[in-house]
Amino acid sequence: MSLLKVVGLGKSFGGVKAVDGIDFELQAGQLLALIGPNGAGKSTTFNMINGQIRADRGSVSLDGTELVGLPPRQIWRQGVGRTFQIAETFSSLTVVENIQMALLSHQKKIFTFWSPANKHGREQAMRLLEQVGMLEQADRPCTALAYSDIKRVELAIALANEPRLLLMDEPTAGMAPKERNDLMALTKKLVLERNMAVLFTEHSMDVVFAYADRMIVLARGRLIAQGQPDEIRHHPKVQEVYFGT
Ligand code: ADP
Ligand code: MG
Repeated sequence: MSLLKVVGLGKSFGGVKAVDGIDFELQAGQLLALIGPNGAGKSTTFNMINGQIRADRGSVSLDGTELVGLPPRQIWRQGVGRTFQIAETFSSLTVVENIQMALLSHQKKIFTFWSPANKHGREQAMRLLEQVGMLEQADRPCTALAYSDIKRVELAIALANEPRLLLMDEPTAGMAPKERNDLMALTKKLVLERNMAVLFTEHSMDVVFAYADRMIVLARGRLIAQGQPDEIRHHPKVQEVYFGT
């Protein structure tokens, strides 16, 4: 059985069909890239899956549990994670404190963090930092980190919730090619180790073709193609709509 199953999912804004009845599935252990030109409906799709936007129609199920209609927090509790921008959260904390916070939030013990000893979950947080290659920077403030390292911390924060499905909206935006590859190689390793799944959007076709197990292509709210990267690369509709050739 697929981990994620999307059937007939749709959402309109006024007269605009942002997402017009799409179907796709995602297996555990895989990375699925969602591509398409601006305005294709990628973000709307993500937001319907994590509950930020309520779908007008269709179904999203995770391991057989229907997610449409659940509030975002419950969808998150079901194991649907997304990478957050650290800048929006706790940039004044150290790296490891950010992870401790995320672990406490996962365990519904967020207020414990502010106790004087502040040792809660440090070991567990350090294990997560090790997995994303950030152990040596654990006690630095997040504000002192390079952009590509912030991305790794964001990944560790998302992992603290033990996601089965992780949504990543343009994870490598603003990064140099080498850093992009490092981040995606790390993501792929984590997906396999944890048998989770990643749905990501990405502008760099190099990254998509190198790291996606499968791809889906949206244009004007419609799913125009899906398949393995090699199939998509040569798909005539994709060439026409997406690459403009
Ligand atoms: P993408 O992420 O692929 O660029 P979006 O999902 O953001 O595409 O947008 C799909 C379409 O829906 C676009 O035409 C966009 O203008 C429209 N849209 C998205 N969000 C809203 C909104 N909150 N209100 C009105 N229109 C929206
Ligand atoms: Mg978008």
